[in-house]
Amino acid sequence: MTPTTQESVKTDSPAVPFRKILVVDDEQGIRDLLSYELTSQGYHVTTAADGEEAVALVGKENFNVIISDVKMPKMDGLETLEAVKKIDPDVEVIMITGYGTIETAVTAMKAGAYDFVQKPFSNIQELFALVEKATEKRDLKALLAVYEASKAVFTSVRTEDMLSTVIGLTRRILRADDVSIMLPEEDGKFFRVAAQVGGRESRKDTRVALGERVAGKVALSKEPVIINGSIEKDSRFKGTEPMRAIKSAIVYPLVLNGQVLGILNANRIERDDPFGAVDLRSATIFGSQIAQALFNSKLFKELEDKASRLEEAYARLEEAQKQLVQTEKLAAIGQLAAGVAHELNNPLTGILGFAQLLLQEEGLTSQQREDLESIYKQSQRCRTIIQNLLQFSHRKDPRMEPIDLSPLIDDTLRLVQYDFKTSGVDIQVKIPKNLPKILADPNQLQQVFLNLLTNARQATDQKKGARIHVLVEAKEGALVVVFRDNGIGISPENVGKIFDPFFTTKPVGKGTGLGLSITYGIIQQHKGTIRAESELGQGTSFIITLPVVEIP
Ligand code: ADP
Repeated sequence: MTPTTQESVKTDSPAVPFRKILVVDDEQGIRDLLSYELTSQGYHVTTAADGEEAVALVGKENFNVIISDVKMPKMDGLETLEAVKKIDPDVEVIMITGYGTIETAVTAMKAGAYDFVQKPFSNIQELFALVEKATEKRDLKALLAVYEASKAVFTSVRTEDMLSTVIGLTRRILRADDVSIMLPEEDGKFFRVAAQVGGRESRKDTRVALGERVAGKVALSKEPVIINGSIEKDSRFKGTEPMRAIKSAIVYPLVLNGQVLGILNANRIERDDPFGAVDLRSATIFGSQIAQALFNSKLFKELEDKASRLEEAYARLEEAQKQLVQTEKLAAIGQLAAGVAHELNNPLTGILGFAQLLLQEEGLTSQQREDLESIYKQSQRCRTIIQNLLQFSHRKDPRMEPIDLSPLIDDTLRLVQYDFKTSGVDIQVKIPKNLPKILADPNQLQQVFLNLLTNARQATDQKKGARIHVLVEAKEGALVVVFRDNGIGISPENVGKIFDPFFTTKPVGKGTGLGLSITYGIIQQHKGTIRAESELGQGTSFIITLPVVEIP
């Protein structure tokens, strides 16, 4: 039985053997005899009178087995064998030999022939058995190729890698001129060509709606179809305009657990022989493997997406936790600092007052005067620290107003310009025009910028080619302000401590360790964030985000 053209082929129908034999012999009598006998056995027989004709046929059609005479004019059996094997390495060739050509037949077997039979044929049953075995071997080879292909499919989980492997193999196994795979879009209502091999023009991104045209109908019915001949004459696809001339096509739904994961299209454009049940069997085996692989890569992608979402969430959580810890630390230290500062303020006022009084006394020795001045100076330093502490603990509520960041940064830079210039620090500022306004306390923000600029200046001290960049950009509903220097950087073990009150790496008298914790508190009151990125010896960036709010 042959698969009738334009007949819907169901996956669960038993595979119908459709085996094609090519008989090559220069003797008409032998051709007729073999043709008659083999046809009576259910084979489809084509004949060729010489090697050249045989080679031309093999180029256009697929044969399961070729039976070829050894001795022929023009092109002998051995040459024919080599030529057809070049076109179709999987085809099995049985040689026919007379008594005088046995040696040649043996040579032919060494060159890849399946077996040989002697003429005249004393027992035709023997030939049948040989042909049967040869076709089985050929089928086994095809199955083996499918098996190998499946292995290849399973080793690549990413859809893109897998698809390109799959369509190349499918084309080989089904002997198709072009192959493409369509994948469903998000909503499952459309299918789109995701990969293609062969064919003159690219059909990539060609879309078809579920239920429309051949692929859409196959996706809906979940039944594969073989279409032989023009689609216009096919009653199943009435009204479907052909997009191009296709001689034979297999359209195969890639189904797993009742879900259509894709559609496999294999077309023969140049080759004349139609797809048959054997091809459908290959497509069935292969299709189920592809469906499984598509399912796997879908899972893999979902897993990847989940993992990256988790990673993002984790990073956000970590940042939030850091900020929380910092806030708690600041609150605890703030209370303590307020108490200490308060307690120290009164005695310190006394020390300063008495030192001043004593300095006005007459008759002091120069040593006494020097000592008193020292007491006065050091006490004043203590007062500055206490003032800083009080500012840190009794953080005043910011007085928010709509402000333009650009002039505020310019004003701050003007304050430090002289100092920076004389120290040879190159300051570069990049602020885009028309930045949205933010709600902020300009004095407090200026204090933040001054802190960061002073730190950056100290970090780049003595450095040749010292550079500080101030960059602003509007991004995702916030203004991002970056202060970047190419100074000494911060060691990884210190980077987590710099916002802690009293943390300083500067020598006594140079740093209080309060600048960044005050900065941190101010930015927090502005509902913003601040973080540092640093590499020891390379430089540091402080990145501040300040939310842009609708200003009433
Ligand atoms: P201080 O400047 O008084 O030490 P801060 O709180 O302003 O206090 O800074 C804390 C510490 O953070 C500094 O001692 C220094 O180690 C580090 N630091 C801050 N800014 C920078 C920078 N731009 N480059 C390198 N280190 C920095």
